[in-house]
Amino acid sequence: MNEYNSENKKYWVRLTRVCNNNCVFCLDADEQDGSFEMTESILALLRAGRARGFDHAVLSGGEPSLHPDFFAIVSETKKMGYKRTQTITNGRMFSYAGFAERAVAAGLDEATFSLHSGSPADFEALTRTPGSYDEALKGFMRAAKLSGLAVSVDILLTARTIPGLTGWINELSSLGASEFDILYPIPFGEAWKHKNEVFFNLDERAKDIVEAFEFCEERGFKAWSNRIPARVFEGAERFIQSPLKLRVEVEAKRDMFEALANRGMEPPCRGERCALCHVSEFCRSLRRFSAAIASKKMPSLLVTQGNIERLDENFPGSPKTIVIGGFDLLKSENVKRRLSKREIRVEALLDKPLENHQGVPDFVSAVYLEINKATASDLSHLKSPFLDKVELKTVLRGRATLEEAAKKDVPIAGFMQEFLKGGGAEIEIFNVPRCLTGRSEMRVFEAVPANVFKNSEEIDLDEYVGCYMANWMSVKSARCAGCSHYADCPGIHINHVRAFGFSNIPFGI
Ligand code: SF4
Ligand code: SF4
Repeated sequence: MNEYNSENKKYWVRLTRVCNNNCVFCLDADEQDGSFEMTESILALLRAGRARGFDHAVLSGGEPSLHPDFFAIVSETKKMGYKRTQTITNGRMFSYAGFAERAVAAGLDEATFSLHSGSPADFEALTRTPGSYDEALKGFMRAAKLSGLAVSVDILLTARTIPGLTGWINELSSLGASEFDILYPIPFGEAWKHKNEVFFNLDERAKDIVEAFEFCEERGFKAWSNRIPARVFEGAERFIQSPLKLRVEVEAKRDMFEALANRGMEPPCRGERCALCHVSEFCRSLRRFSAAIASKKMPSLLVTQGNIERLDENFPGSPKTIVIGGFDLLKSENVKRRLSKREIRVEALLDKPLENHQGVPDFVSAVYLEINKATASDLSHLKSPFLDKVELKTVLRGRATLEEAAKKDVPIAGFMQEFLKGGGAEIEIFNVPRCLTGRSEMRVFEAVPANVFKNSEEIDLDEYVGCYMANWMSVKSARCAGCSHYADCPGIHINHVRAFGFSNIPFGI
């Protein structure tokens, strides 16, 4: 499966603001001024990364291999205790005799080469640098021959690179490549200036992209989808990128997202390019959340076993509702006592079948019952929207991982048919699109875990990313394009789609 768990441990450090190519799709061009980062500053950052627990250093640029202290920096990563040192390179320096050998001797474990096309003309139309194809390929071949150095290849999807993609992967594999990172462009730097050349009609090219992934799968190569919109993989959902990669994207623009989260400062990139941006849904979600908190419109607060100690704290905007997660917590005297001190509406989020929930305490005004393997059958036979006089609602929870979704959930399309047939018509449903519920609106379960707040004033960005990934990171099918609800429908949680497929979304309405 396409999980990016290891990405969480990668620590990216920039070595240069200069490159010997001039790629038409370069997302970093705005950051380049022809300079090298000071070696001492690079080492200080690397030390800080180790102190934060990272053990995989990624040396990037610009073009990192141009840094005059490249070998020394590689060697220092090893002294600091990094278990793996990787560089992302255009490969041209590796074409010089002895360069790859020196890099390996210094401690380089992995080199990722940007080799976007097998056609020299297309390659150099993209790099805008004559001679770059021959040098890059020579550099790759020299590196691939060395034992002790893992090589992998980055391939950017563009109208130029897609037609020959599978053939190029095949050719690279004969030269020693067996791991490919297949990337979708993002609208920054040169890529935005040349957007008409770089971006393409994704839906028309979906078949070719899937074919390349299937080719890699058949031959046992690793192929990572990187920022490729999930809808491309309808029918081949196993190739959808893990949502975990979002952490890396946010980390790359941490200051900008911190400013949006806690100071309401708009990113300087906001505008026309948002429509092409790989983090647009996250960015929108954070903006909305930050604005709601700033205007004291606090959503419900979700308190679970893991953060119960925060029940007494103050939160920005003072929540009007607390949702208690889990029946054990609801029965706990400790929780009851703490809740009795506050004038607040209390709801419950439960994940076990109804018979275990008789006697829901009187202080609970509503129960959200998860739709999952354990509850599905009971829910399909409900006749009343009330449970012990408590209002009952159902919710399709997002899941933090694919494994969790596959283990706990049922395919939502089949469930909804049974549920609506079985008398659930009056019960509110959360997180299920209208094409499945037939309702006039889609309700979204918006309660946020208490740990999304650092304290009574600040949003914790890392926790918010985790919360967004686990709860609200949803996707739609390419077929949704014709749906009248497209603009305001979030779709279905990405891990539900990864576990059960896009076939859970019926045709648009
Ligand atoms: S969606 Fe956000 S990060 Fe992306 S371009 Fe727009 S403002 Fe920038
Ligand atoms: S946009 Fe897609 S998921 Fe949403 S209601 Fe329409 S068809 Fe269903």
